[in-house]
This record gives sequence, structure tokens and C-alpha cells, in this order.
Amino acid sequence: RQGTCIVTGASSGLGLATAKALAETGKWHIIMACRDFLKAERAAKSSGIAKENYTIMHLDLASLDSVRQFVDTFRRSGRPLDVLVCNAAVYFPTAKEPTFTAEGFELSVGTNHLGHFLLSRLLLEDMKKSDYPSKRLIIVGSITGNTNTLAGNVPPKANLGDLRGLSGGLNGLNSSSMIDGGVFDGAKAYKDSKVCNMLTMQEFHRRFHEETGIAFASLYPGCIATTGLFREHIPLFRLLFPPFQKYITKGFVSELEAGKRLAQVVSDPSLTKSGVYWSWNKDSASFQNQLSEEASDAEKARKVWEVSEKLVGLA
Ligand code: NDP
Repeated sequence: RQGTCIVTGASSGLGLATAKALAETGKWHIIMACRDFLKAERAAKSSGIAKENYTIMHLDLASLDSVRQFVDTFRRSGRPLDVLVCNAAVYFPTAKEPTFTAEGFELSVGTNHLGHFLLSRLLLEDMKKSDYPSKRLIIVGSITGNTNTLAGNVPPKANLGDLRGLSGGLNGLNSSSMIDGGVFDGAKAYKDSKVCNMLTMQEFHRRFHEETGIAFASLYPGCIATTGLFREHIPLFRLLFPPFQKYITKGFVSELEAGKRLAQVVSDPSLTKSGVYWSWNKDSASFQNQLSEEASDAEKARKVWEVSEKLVGLA
């Protein structure tokens, strides 16, 4: 049978390119989990994804009610769940003040990490029930959260500290809006959220791989300098960033190529290993990459998991 794959944030950038790459094989039905239904519909149509290969379902990761609603809607569709791709993200590099999710969590960590954390915890139950031979749960990571890389060393660096802001609810009222308890910094909040994504993937692996056989993976698809992720950045940055990545760092990758890479992690028979952070070299060959010390800290992963469970109402 066709596999069913949920992709969050499939209305643009990497998510859309991945949906397209998977749909083209004819082996996948894509559930495009998006906050803007019309935008998703237009995106699917204009990128030529065949109608029978996708369904759009509303999901706003910045609202835990919406996450629960999405899970209900998906369950009512009667489809099995074979692969889940947590791809959506927001990035506010120039914001002076934090903004917040429906529950009052700082918006980048609230969307990128906490929304996905609840989503993947709930949908794990659905994946357990699927009889698909190669089930996978993928959370898109990033080099910027990895301080063992050049890109990850551009300040402000990711650092979760002792999680005092996260434990306090990340609401900027009785706690800081930053995980480490520091002053709000939009670029750092994004990087911190990506560290949480990579830690969550590993904690899933430790807790559930043996029992469920699901492969848990993260990846850095390369710098896709042209996506909407940089829409909040200053115009000069948006002008210079793509050529800088193309010609100086040579880390640039097109949306098309990045989508093929993520599609590999979804369905390539050779990428079944669990607990892995995938990257690609300049010849576009995948390899198992090393995470930074913080992004591979098992104790921190456990703490992030436990605090996040409380915040999203699972504990
Ligand atoms: P885009 O901004 O193009 O895509 C992000 C997607 O997330 C959009 O579809 C957006 O929806 C969706 N989204 C944002 N907020 C929500 C929400 N509250 N609920 C549901 N969906 C939401 O960026 P990219 O394609 O670049 O980013 C995709 C992933 O790739 C992210 O996880 C990012 O961290 C990662 N990444 C990107 C890199 C890059 O260089 N671009 C490098 C490394 C990793 P909408 O269309 O409605 O805005």
C-alpha cells in the first residue's frame, strides 16, 4: 500500500519540496499539516503535486488546542500513520520583544519545539498501530544549534543553561521568555528550539525505539538560503545571504535538493538507522553526523523531555 506521511509546515520551503519529492514517487500520500489552508492549497497546486497524493489538514503549532484538534481530525480520516515529519518552524532574528503562543510560550520555542513535542507524543500512539515495515519519526534540526560547527558558533550561540526559563513556563511574566532564563534574543531562541528538536529526537530513540521499532531521526539538509524562514530578516541580509552561502561558505542547497534529502530520510531503505542526525556532503551523499556536546547531552534531553511534558499537559 501507499505510505502515509504527515509533513508539518508543508506550505512552503523545505516542507513543500519534501511533499513534492515524496508525492512524485507515487508511493506516498502526504498529509500537509499547515496553519494556512489556502496558502497550502495554492502551494500544492502550483508545485504540481497530484490531487490524489495529498490532503491538507489544519494545524497551528502555536496552539496546543489546535495540535490536539489536528490529531483528532487525522484519526477520523481513518488513515494509518507511517511517517511523521516535524518540519515547520518560525525564526525572528530581528525581533526586539518576544511574542507568544496561545498558551503564552515564547513563539519560536513554543512553535518549533513545544507544539511538535505534543504532536509527536500524541501521534506516536498512531504510529505504533501502523503495520508499515519502516516507520519513521523525523524532526528537522539545524547546524545553527550545533556549537561544534562554524555556523553554530556565530553569536548568539544556542545554550539551554539549566532550563530555568523553560521550567518557569517561558512566558516572560513570572519567568524569562528564554529557555536559559536570559534576556530575549530572537536568533538565540530559534537556535535553542533547534537544540530541543535534536534532543527530543534522541530521547524518543532511547525511550521508544526498541519497543516500537520506529526509527527516530534528525537532519540538517544544508543551508536553504532562499526559504521563507528568513522573511523576518532585514532586506540587506535577505539579499546577500543566498550568494554568501553559495559562493563563500558553499553550504547553499536549493529547496529542490533539500526536499530530496528529507524525502530520503523518509523513505530511503538505507536510512533506517534510529537515533541519527543525518547530513550531506558536497557530493550530496548522506552521512551520520556528530552533534554538539549540548545537543547530545542525554541528561539534558531527559530534563527537556520532562519539563516539556508538564508544559504541554502530558504529565
Ligand atoms: P519556511 O519558512 O519556508 O517554512 C516553514 C513552514 O513552517 C511554513 O510552511 C510555515 O507556514 C510553517 N509554520 C510556521 N509556523 C507554524 C505554525 N504555528 N503552525 C504550523 N505551521 C507553521 O522555512 P524552511 O522551509 O526553511 O524551514 C523548514 C525547516 O527547515 C525548519 O525546521 C527549519 O528550522 C529547518 N532548517 C532550515 C534551514 C534553512 O536554511 N532554511 C536550514 C536548516 C534547517 P506558513 O507557510 O503558513 O508560513
